[in-house]
Amino acid sequence: MWGRKAFDILSSYRNPYNIVAFGDNDSDKIGKVFCGKPIWDIDTLERDKQIDLIIVAASGVKIMEIKKQLEKLVSIPIFVYQDIRNQLFWPRISIDISGFCNAKCKWCVTGRKNLMQVLQDRSYMSFAEFCEIYSHLYKNGIIGKSTEIMLYSWGEPLLNKDYVQIVEFLAEQEQKFSVSTNASTLQLVQRKDAYKNCCSFVFSMPGFSEESYARIHGFQFNKIRENIVKINDNLKEHGFVGNGSISFHVYQFNHAEIADARNFSEDLGLSFDPYYPYFNGNSMMEDFLEGRMDDIALNEAKKELHLAHVDDLLKKRPKEYKCFLENIISIDCKGDLVLCCAADSELIDYSWGSVFQISSFEDMKAKREEMLQCHSCQKCRKLGMDYWLGNNPSYLRN
Ligand code: SF4
Ligand code: SF4
Repeated sequence: MWGRKAFDILSSYRNPYNIVAFGDNDSDKIGKVFCGKPIWDIDTLERDKQIDLIIVAASGVKIMEIKKQLEKLVSIPIFVYQDIRNQLFWPRISIDISGFCNAKCKWCVTGRKNLMQVLQDRSYMSFAEFCEIYSHLYKNGIIGKSTEIMLYSWGEPLLNKDYVQIVEFLAEQEQKFSVSTNASTLQLVQRKDAYKNCCSFVFSMPGFSEESYARIHGFQFNKIRENIVKINDNLKEHGFVGNGSISFHVYQFNHAEIADARNFSEDLGLSFDPYYPYFNGNSMMEDFLEGRMDDIALNEAKKELHLAHVDDLLKKRPKEYKCFLENIISIDCKGDLVLCCAADSELIDYSWGSVFQISSFEDMKAKREEMLQCHSCQKCRKLGMDYWLGNNPSYLRN
């Protein structure tokens, strides 16, 4: 029972914990399979040099006895599950501090609404609201200082008027965080170490010319270029040591701009990350895969996006594929839990109630399990959209 409990909790932390086996000294169990993992005896445990820690998962009275027994037999570090458990937090959490974006990307559900001039709620999360959510998550053990708080999802974070206050607050809290922006708005921090815990800062670009910007984001290219330079300087002058990058969206019409974008990126000391954009928003992806997209949009998509590989890619999805967004909690600008960063508000199972209803790590885990069983998530897996999101090929640099 304890082994299963530890397995369930630790296996949701794919990055730090890769569980390879269970250990036991009961000869009836050795060699069998439990939770999809083999059960080893002590000799196998010791022989396998890939094991970098053993976790003892047992009831209180037995723990020390087992630990002592193991310490005599193996030289692998041994931890007690209850101790590890107390230091566990959600690894990444997205808090969408702006509920809106100003770009007009036609292959994104948010951008498309801007393009069609659909009236949108332009509310954002105030500094006070952010602090309240942060403190709730932290005090209840749902996040720790090493949890990466992604300050974005469907909204453009720099449109939040309290952006600087939020970033400076996170520096004061020694909290890890990350930002992704379209660089349409300038927001510069003052506090010397404001970006010291920012692990990643991404500038997303839909091309490297006035034409490409007019076609996708709808911004003035020269202005964006200037903003990127200024924000990048501001990052460097305020403690940033994380990964700064340009995420260049490779459309069929902007291949000739890639070299210039790369030079620009290298001049600024940013990593260059060209990738093929897809439909941003699961409702649009569903429409495409289920043949509901209207002919005009479909023909345009085929001319702009790289889609020829998609059918073959979807066929390769392994049955047991685990979506990388399963372990990322998403909170919208109103403080509500939402299905994931890829799910948009057009989906029936988008919203999951206030984050303030969740008062422990276990609560969050249970809620996440429930969310992952919903109709929209199951459909996403069935159509292979989760696999597309996580395995779209990288742009071939050569
Ligand atoms: S893709 Fe990003 S920048 Fe473009 S409209 Fe959507 S959220 Fe905004
Ligand atoms: S399977 Fe789809 S809906 Fe579910 S978490 Fe992953 S991307 Fe989101």
